[in-house]
Amino acid sequence: MSNQLIIENVNKHFGAVHVVKHVNLSIPEGKLVCFLGPSGCGKTTLLRMIAGLETPTSGRLSMDGKDLTHVPACERDFGMVFQSLALFPHMTVACNIAYPLRLRKAGKQSQKQRVDELLQLIQLPHMADRPVAQLSGGQRQRVAIARALASAPKLLLLDEPLSALDAKLREAMQVEIRLLQQRLGITTIMVTHDQREAMTMADVIVVMEQGQIAQIGSPLEVYRDPVNEFVADFIGLGNILPAVPSGEQCVRLAGGQLIDIGGPRKASAGQDIRLLIRPEDVCLKISEPQAHKDLHASIRNNCVPGQVSFIRDVGSSLEATVDCAGFALTVATSPREVPGLAIGSSVLATLPPHACKLIDASPGRL
Ligand code: ATP
Repeated sequence: MSNQLIIENVNKHFGAVHVVKHVNLSIPEGKLVCFLGPSGCGKTTLLRMIAGLETPTSGRLSMDGKDLTHVPACERDFGMVFQSLALFPHMTVACNIAYPLRLRKAGKQSQKQRVDELLQLIQLPHMADRPVAQLSGGQRQRVAIARALASAPKLLLLDEPLSALDAKLREAMQVEIRLLQQRLGITTIMVTHDQREAMTMADVIVVMEQGQIAQIGSPLEVYRDPVNEFVADFIGLGNILPAVPSGEQCVRLAGGQLIDIGGPRKASAGQDIRLLIRPEDVCLKISEPQAHKDLHASIRNNCVPGQVSFIRDVGSSLEATVDCAGFALTVATSPREVPGLAIGSSVLATLPPHACKLIDASPGRL
């Protein structure tokens, strides 16, 4: 495939610290790929090596079959937007966008034509002559993207470009950037530590942990089928419950509750595992506290008794924390589904077998 960026066994050391470890990755043409991971996991360093701003200690980067590893940043033909945006505040919008074209000594007429096109693209044609210092955060963001696109790069690299924006604007810009990227079909790599941002924008999420790739997949794959506890936790899966295998197809939770997982279990007896269940998959119903005395009967149906200790109500939906013996469950529900739910309510939480997934507590897949 043309324009595919290939990263082969790339490593980066800063002194004695091994920051990026044996990364192998291909970035498909026309897609938006997010590097997702906690602070310090090496995602910016990996992006900077792709940009040519850092040199890998070992390994190879190539695009279109051409070795890029030691090609200087200015010859890579990539557009980049940093967290700081790095715009010139006293220059006008048009001058900022034209800046890379001036560096390339493009003709005045072609500069003007390209700037006009980009101003249309970012829907700011009326702001061409305004100094950047007089723009809002979202408008600056769009100008930074237009500048990165000015010289028609093969690849757009975005390093936490939205982190300075407030939550509402940030969500609006996520959609705007995604739509723009899809319209242009430009291959884009974006660094973020925000899983919601990655889920909203990416075709492919690369989850990084301590310099290594923990998982590569579509947002849905990573959410539905995390390979280990780190990924499940980082992607915000909600309920990661310590468990031990029991019988043929059951696990025992921390309070002794036996949960049927609906099929043959791959984990072997004695193994330290986690039961994953998404908050939206747990069914809640209000119960009489006396019913909890009949513990064994209810647990046979994967029903776990508990008490609501916290409710986060966001209007259309709500998230309840249910304290069960030995662990707490997060449950996503709505006032319509469970009328009368309140802090202190006694409840039965059902964990449908098909929604239960097991992972090993240590890295690796069961
Ligand atoms: P963040 O989200 O906080 O930016 P990150 O995942 O992007 O984190 P990097 O910025 O790639 O992480 O940093 C990875 C590790 O490498 C960190 O421990 C950082 O301190 C270290 N590091 C980064 N750049 C350098 C440098 N130029 N010299 C020495 N150490 C560095």
